[in-house]
Amino acid sequence: MTKSILSALSLCVIAISSTQAQSTRRVDYQISFPNRAQHEGRVTATFTGIPRGATLQVRMAQSSPGRYALTGFAKNVYDVLAVDSRGRTLSVTKPDVNGWNVIGHDGVAKVSYKVWGDRTDGTFLQIDHAHAHMNMPATFVFARGFDNAPVTLRIDVPENWKVATQLVPTSDSSMFTAPNMQWFMDSPTEVGPVMFSSWTQSINGKSSTYRVAVHHLGTQAEVDSYAAMARKVVDEHTAVFDDAPGFDFGTYTFIVDFVPWVNGDGMEHRNSTIITSSRSSLADSVRRIRALSTLSHEFFHAWNMERIRSRDIEPFDFERANMSADLWFGEGFTNYYGPLARRRAGFLTDDEFLADVGGAAINTINSPARQHNSPVGMSAMAPFVDGAAFLDPMNSQETHLSYYIWGEVVALSLDLMLRTKYDLSLDGYMRAVWKKFGKKQTPALAPA
Ligand SMILES: [Zn+2]
Repeated sequence: MTKSILSALSLCVIAISSTQAQSTRRVDYQISFPNRAQHEGRVTATFTGIPRGATLQVRMAQSSPGRYALTGFAKNVYDVLAVDSRGRTLSVTKPDVNGWNVIGHDGVAKVSYKVWGDRTDGTFLQIDHAHAHMNMPATFVFARGFDNAPVTLRIDVPENWKVATQLVPTSDSSMFTAPNMQWFMDSPTEVGPVMFSSWTQSINGKSSTYRVAVHHLGTQAEVDSYAAMARKVVDEHTAVFDDAPGFDFGTYTFIVDFVPWVNGDGMEHRNSTIITSSRSSLADSVRRIRALSTLSHEFFHAWNMERIRSRDIEPFDFERANMSADLWFGEGFTNYYGPLARRRAGFLTDDEFLADVGGAAINTINSPARQHNSPVGMSAMAPFVDGAAFLDPMNSQETHLSYYIWGEVVALSLDLMLRTKYDLSLDGYMRAVWKKFGKKQTPALAPA
């Protein structure tokens, strides 16, 4: 055997062992809520397939998809411990503000910690006597190098609580799976006294199941009535694209939290949305119609943002603020179609619709910020304005015009121009964008 063959063989062995390590990597999470009165959860994250001798770099996310400011989730993680597969205590060090390094493992590290959270919206975590509302980056650590590892989550579900999530169900009602870490982090989960209502839709050979999952103080009949309205909105959006988004694993879940102590928000995900409001209620038809506002906006994102996706935010980097120059399109055009679909479904009058788009036009025309920046430039400011808090004031009255508003006016203007000059409409434009940029998803993005 020549030396070169030997070295080629040894290279082969190294390549195979690193491929094997990749393929045997997995992450198994477990969460329980023994101290929910104090807003505390207990998490165990078991990382399997760590290369021998390697330092396991465990981190909390610094950002969350769809919210552009930094979040500092690690501030609410404490009592971090690690053991190996035989239960021997491992050394845990704190190399930076957002994470922990674990050494001395035997290929497996079981990292346990407590996590605290008391805010329900699209970004954070709330654990209390009434529910556990989990945005995954606010709740679960991840490890560098485990991006492609399959994930399981076992939830110790308190009595009479149910689980609403886009995570893949298993035959065990407390166990869920995700094909990889990006997908897991994109799967917010509500555990509580949730009421479900669902329907199926079939278009172009795609069968989609829609679930409305509501945590509220009302009745199942109210949820069913709201779901029937939501279905009409879904059908209007579907008609724009003449196609369903094509959900991973075939299901989309509207996760709705209408209880008095939550913060108002809406957050898009690939196969679900979080809708939270302390003022919304499903108690009568007028309020149910109002409660379609955020739902309509978020659902349009299933196409525009989640699948017609800015390359700036894909894959999402959980260790920094993610900036996209395209939010004027992703949020702005969505802001136009939210009320438009409600108008088409019969839930807004012409006057109400025109008040919405007219208000956006007036705000845009009167804003001094247009002298300083373009819609692209406004989009790039998102990490400073979307959920951000600073001690010093920002000159935003002068320098920032929301990309939601300006983008909505760009959409309105384009729609009016296509209609009046070319006998076309923005619907056809969106359909063309969908066919070119969204319909065909890469396997990395659409794992099912
Ligand atoms: Zn949005």
